[in-house]
Amino acid sequence: MSVMYDRVALIGLGLIASSMFWAMKRKGLAGEVVGYARSEETRDTARKIGLCDRICDSAVEAAKDADLVILCVPVGAMSAVAADIGPHLKWGAVVSDVGSVKRAVIDAIGPHIPDGMHFIPAHPLAGTEKSGPESGFAELFDNRWCLLTPDGADATETQKLRTYWEALGSNVDEMDADHHDLVVAVTSHTPHLIAYTMVGVADDLSRVTDSEVVQFSAGGFRDFTRIAASDPTMWRDVFLNNKDATLEILGRFTEELFVLQRAIRQGDGDLLHDYFTRTRSIRRGIIEAGQDTDAANFGRNLKS
Ligand code: NAP
Repeated sequence: MSVMYDRVALIGLGLIASSMFWAMKRKGLAGEVVGYARSEETRDTARKIGLCDRICDSAVEAAKDADLVILCVPVGAMSAVAADIGPHLKWGAVVSDVGSVKRAVIDAIGPHIPDGMHFIPAHPLAGTEKSGPESGFAELFDNRWCLLTPDGADATETQKLRTYWEALGSNVDEMDADHHDLVVAVTSHTPHLIAYTMVGVADDLSRVTDSEVVQFSAGGFRDFTRIAASDPTMWRDVFLNNKDATLEILGRFTEELFVLQRAIRQGDGDLLHDYFTRTRSIRRGIIEAGQDTDAANFGRNLKS
């Protein structure tokens, strides 16, 4: 694959930005990749591990000559970063982001992008519970979805960004920002909140000791603990910025939970069996769509 953008600037150098850098390198998609992170510690680590071709000491320095600028900071930090770099962008530059919420991010970044520049929001549906510049890897986006919410952005630049994400390994789709926020509230945000809650419940339960929770954490709970280990800043910002959709899904979740709770109390095995049969078919659909492995226990060694 040939160079798509002469200079790409990554602002924020955590899991997503570092994975983008390694994926860009793998395909030679950028002439030069420059990076910036707010802390000296992260910038030093980036220089040490060869993350980015050049690390800058300010966001403005990184963004000013870039053809593509990607904001890879927590959702709540997008507005301040955009306000900082907005006046210094190169004419015709494309600004994008990787935020997990789209409507609030459009409202936060949009006003700071001057006329003559292009703002095309994006969200790669790929991640792990790890964060920081050393957590990235080139394959993170392979066969994962990346959703663009162009909201009337220039069609040629949107198509180019689409091709860029495909070259990073993703399948790409376009969506309205509000619809995006509802979809990810179902598929990602509410499940994370449930995982955080379940781990909190286990921690509070004095009749089960902490060591028992750790020792006997099989299957479901172990997966909850992995999800609940995700970055607290990122997830705080997700819930504060995808409030309506998350509350809508949580309301529905609570209603369903009461239905199952009553079925258990009343010994309604038919209801439970029918319910679990329906949910099992959803898992099959995810496997068939190639979005997860069919291996038992996610392919983990069952003895570990
Ligand atoms: P990360 O590994 O925690 O890295 C975050 C980066 O943002 C770090 O470089 C950090 O700088 C910087 N940062 C944090 N707070 C900041 C602030 N207030 N002002 C300026 N910079 C700040 O995060 P990530 O997982 O890559 O997530 C980045 C974005 O991708 C978020 O918007 C998130 O919603 C989105 N996203 C994440 C995932 C996922 O699973 N992780 C998936 C899809 C999308 P320092 O290192 O100097 O502190």
